[in-house]
Amino acid sequence: MSDKLHNKATQVGHLGRAPQKFMGAVNTPVFRATTMLFPTVADLEAAVRGKYEGIGYGLHGLPTVTDLQNAIAELEGGHAALAVPSGLTATTLPLLALANPGDHLLVTDSVYGPTRRFCDLHMKRLGVEVSYYDPLLGADIAREFRPNTRIVFAESPGSLTFDVQDVSAIAKVAHARSALVIIDNSWATPLNFRAFDHGVDVSVHAATKYIAGHSDTLLGLIVGSEATFPKLHRLWTDMGVTASSDDCFLGLRGLRTLATRLARQQASGIKVAEWLRTRPEVNEVIHPALPGSRGHELWKRDFAGATSLFGIVLNPVGKACIDALLDGMRLFGMGWSWGGFESLIIPIYPERTRTASRWEAGGPMLRLYVGLEDPDDLIADLADGLARLGGQVATPR
Ligand SMILES: *Cc1c(COP(=O)(O)O)cnc(C)c1O
Repeated sequence: MSDKLHNKATQVGHLGRAPQKFMGAVNTPVFRATTMLFPTVADLEAAVRGKYEGIGYGLHGLPTVTDLQNAIAELEGGHAALAVPSGLTATTLPLLALANPGDHLLVTDSVYGPTRRFCDLHMKRLGVEVSYYDPLLGADIAREFRPNTRIVFAESPGSLTFDVQDVSAIAKVAHARSALVIIDNSWATPLNFRAFDHGVDVSVHAATKYIAGHSDTLLGLIVGSEATFPKLHRLWTDMGVTASSDDCFLGLRGLRTLATRLARQQASGIKVAEWLRTRPEVNEVIHPALPGSRGHELWKRDFAGATSLFGIVLNPVGKACIDALLDGMRLFGMGWSWGGFESLIIPIYPERTRTASRWEAGGPMLRLYVGLEDPDDLIADLADGLARLGGQVATPR
């Protein structure tokens, strides 16, 4: 089913399911299976040679898993996809699969923290050179290339700072130098950024976030191009890191409502962000979909929509005031991750992790995730919170 024929809301409802294969059940059931019995010795021997048509062992090929993989690959326009047990497995497995000792890996300075740690500890240990690039370089990333640069790892908008990258320009530079581009596309999801149309070779998702969508499932997805997929598939098979059928079932369930949730969350997120912009306590709102925000022009050029994770910079204020703001929130919870139905808020310190670029903001930062609540209720919660910055008494939770 091509997206030339159907819009996104229709696609997410219909991709990756075939009710007639499962007694008419609308949703592909959870397959709990390890041992698969072969009808004949000839079949068993075919499986040993990799020529068996059926599923040889429950580690690979169960329908709940393959249906999710096929749906995501088609949605994003990639060749094929792999489901893995977490978003972090999705960011790290392609690095292991595609880099060799002696290669140089260029990673965005705005990368998700645990991905950065994996590069610094493990890729380096395996003999891969790692350096970081300013996410705003665009085509100027050429000056960061070394003769042995084989992979660029991008993330756009970036974790914490939401820097939007010129992915097409980066991919052009990389391909001219025989390097591959991997992108962490978790923020946009396959619906809002079609990574392969921008020249990306591997797109990865923390499906834990918007795709699963309910803060109850750890899940990662890796979508490869035709050229990269065999190596990704080889390592995925040899490490045995498939996602479980239960989690893929929840991933598929989340996918069915993804377009609807994102449409609502885009609108609510923009409403909350615009309101925050009017507040004297707020120095800057960093939300790529807001005209005038950092990253807006590239976002407008390349993205089909926005999600609801963004940042704000407060005017300089003491820690105790920020703690009072956060401790008293009634609807916004404080916690890692995002993508569920509930709104979240945390303090962030992007300047602590950067090494290739300086992060300049005019004050302390908060990251907001707008969930499915009524945006006016969220605004009221934030209004009370901002009032607490001035030292007013916090309302108990
Ligand atoms: C959360 C996140 C991940 C990791 O996902 P987990 O499922 O929590 O391991 C990777 N990349 C980005 C951008 C994320 O926000």
